[in-house]
Amino acid sequence: MSHSFGGHTSCVEFETGHAEYFVCDMGSGARAFGEHILARQGERPATVNVFMSHVHWDHIMGFPFFGPAYVPGTRIRIHGCHDILEHAFRLQQSPPCFPVSFEQLGATIEFVRLAAGKPFHVSGLSVTPQLQRHSGDSYGYRFEIGGRSIVYTTDSEHKLEDRVQTAAIVAFFRDADLVIFDAMYSLAEAISVKEDWGHSSNVVGVELCQMAGAKHLVLFHHEPANSDAAIEGALRDARRLEELTRGAQPLRVSAAHDGLEIDL
Ligand SMILES: [Zn+2]
Ligand SMILES: [Zn+2]
Repeated sequence: MSHSFGGHTSCVEFETGHAEYFVCDMGSGARAFGEHILARQGERPATVNVFMSHVHWDHIMGFPFFGPAYVPGTRIRIHGCHDILEHAFRLQQSPPCFPVSFEQLGATIEFVRLAAGKPFHVSGLSVTPQLQRHSGDSYGYRFEIGGRSIVYTTDSEHKLEDRVQTAAIVAFFRDADLVIFDAMYSLAEAISVKEDWGHSSNVVGVELCQMAGAKHLVLFHHEPANSDAAIEGALRDARRLEELTRGAQPLRVSAAHDGLEIDL
């Protein structure tokens, strides 16, 4: 299919110039990400830093197919704020769901517990988690490196009438160069039938980014049932809204697709 947005679940890499790898979530895109690492590393084992929004299946399902996990010498640090993080990863590789258990993986895998609101430093990167409204809780991450800031915020429902939470999210997005945002639904769905389903919309993404002075909004975590035309429609609507409500600073709006690369 041409012009397809693709169908992989969440897996977003940040290239920082450091020899280590940085990635948010281990959705089905982790398989291709692993192939990319193996091709690039050659014989050298990699060090991979993973940041987990939460452990819903679409966010961990790629890990059993993540090639570097099978390579001895590889180091994988899985960062997250949920106490069930390690349990969830082990569970999906337990019988009868998968033939290779966690113990059989070649890589050294370490789980690193982070706390919401507390900056954490790893390999030249500063990262601050943010608690989000989602079933079982989810966490967004704000990354700062070399004067650039990236916010990864998926599986998060926003109720703008909740002023305390909105202020916290606006501070979290403040002046970000890039905001990768859960825009699973249209606004009409998000405030009617799909209210409290734990996801957000293109319109709320524009509003929050404008309040925060963010520079580039990427609509992410598309509804799997949506056609390419529906995603293009959501992008068009978001861009139109941004034009109509633009303040001093324009907000660039894009829609994520498999393999999308953005230079900062
Ligand atoms: Zn979820
Ligand atoms: Zn999800």
